Amino acid sequence: MKEIPVNITSKPVHATQGGCDSASLLAGLLTLEQARTKMLESITPVSDTVEVGIMDSFGSIVAEDITSPINVPNYKNSAMDGYAVSANDLPSTESKKFKLVGTSWAGKPYSGEIKQNQCIRIMTGAKVPEGTDTVIMQEHISKEGDSIIISAGHKAEQNVRCAGEDLKQGDTVLKKGKLIKAAEMGLLASLGVAKVKVLRPLKVSFFSTGDELKGLGETLEDGQIYDSNRYTIFGMLQKLNVEINDMGVIPDDREKIEAAFLTAADQSDVIITSGGVSVGDADYVKETLEKLGQINFWKLAIKPGKPLAFGKVKQAMFIGLPGNPVSVMATYYQLGLPAIQHLSGNQNYTPVIAKARATEAFYKRPGRLDFQRAIFSYDEQGELVVKGVGMQASHILSGMSLANCFAIIPAESGTTNPGDMIDIQPFDGLI
Ligand code: AMP
Ligand code: MG
Repeated sequence: MKEIPVNITSKPVHATQGGCDSASLLAGLLTLEQARTKMLESITPVSDTVEVGIMDSFGSIVAEDITSPINVPNYKNSAMDGYAVSANDLPSTESKKFKLVGTSWAGKPYSGEIKQNQCIRIMTGAKVPEGTDTVIMQEHISKEGDSIIISAGHKAEQNVRCAGEDLKQGDTVLKKGKLIKAAEMGLLASLGVAKVKVLRPLKVSFFSTGDELKGLGETLEDGQIYDSNRYTIFGMLQKLNVEINDMGVIPDDREKIEAAFLTAADQSDVIITSGGVSVGDADYVKETLEKLGQINFWKLAIKPGKPLAFGKVKQAMFIGLPGNPVSVMATYYQLGLPAIQHLSGNQNYTPVIAKARATEAFYKRPGRLDFQRAIFSYDEQGELVVKGVGMQASHILSGMSLANCFAIIPAESGTTNPGDMIDIQPFDGLI
């Protein structure tokens, strides 16, 4: 799989984007790349720091470069269970006998003397004692009383891990802006570092607006639907190290909407809403946003997910996702998530994009960049292949659940042919 960075420190680039600015049917629409660039350029990452214990650091962003206070490993040790000898004693032609004089255990080094043609039993991770520098695997010797026989052909200093081989004291281990995951937690612990300075976690408030939306447990009247977007958004936010503030459903009432935006802005770094951003739709939301903040209402040349609002309410970043359930997910992943990552200080957010062979046609009209819901798998030859999930309309949330990736069809492309190589974006690579 190749990784295509959404380079959130400078200009974001999309692998499949391009060539769509000229088409007249796209007049007034922003490409994904243009929208991402505008978004990211307007965001200043948080700079406040907090100190957290390593066990609480998963998902945090490193606030300043971390250097190693020690060599890792900090002593020469064995990479194998075997026998430690001096390379000077190794036979060059015939086998040779070495007298076994002690054992070096991991955590319990051998401190005695080792003379010529003597050896030490040594365990993986145990200190290689003074007077030895080479480890012979236990499978490569034969025993003879309190001696072992070593054949010719072994290399000097084999199976030994040198001090500082992984990291040298003073080396930069983690750079500012690095996301802490499992490897980083272990790495910091390997240095004896118990606490780490990280950027403070973001607080994200979100709510749905609309008189048609009912909460779970309520009975649907004619023309009403259950509010699903709030649950999708909550689920997508779970993967981030953010404080989540669920503000529920706000009815189409000018005062209530205004109050909700102001409360959210006072309490959070990010406000996410869904719906009410298309033209002429949910006027209260649009009107309120125009009154309260600096909000852009964009039409994007992507499918699904044409309308999107982005800007600020007071100091909070505002992301107004479209209302259709699949559009919510597509626009969150392609725009909302990179924006949140950038604000949080993550300088390495990199969604995975891979090429897969389409086993069927993907239907499409040229114009917008498509994120079709698709399923990738490996065929009998081990090749990565992809097929669609059927209905591609932006309200078909079940398709999103059947899918395990987006099939990304370039803006200028029409219907693709079976056998074409297509870019896919696995959902697992999207955090
Ligand atoms: P809108 O952008 O508000 O016109 O919404 C577009 C479509 O998405 C309409 O069919 C809405 O009913 C639907 N929709 C809006 N908000 C939600 C929500 N929170 N949950 C489920 N569907 C929604
Ligand atoms: Mg609406």
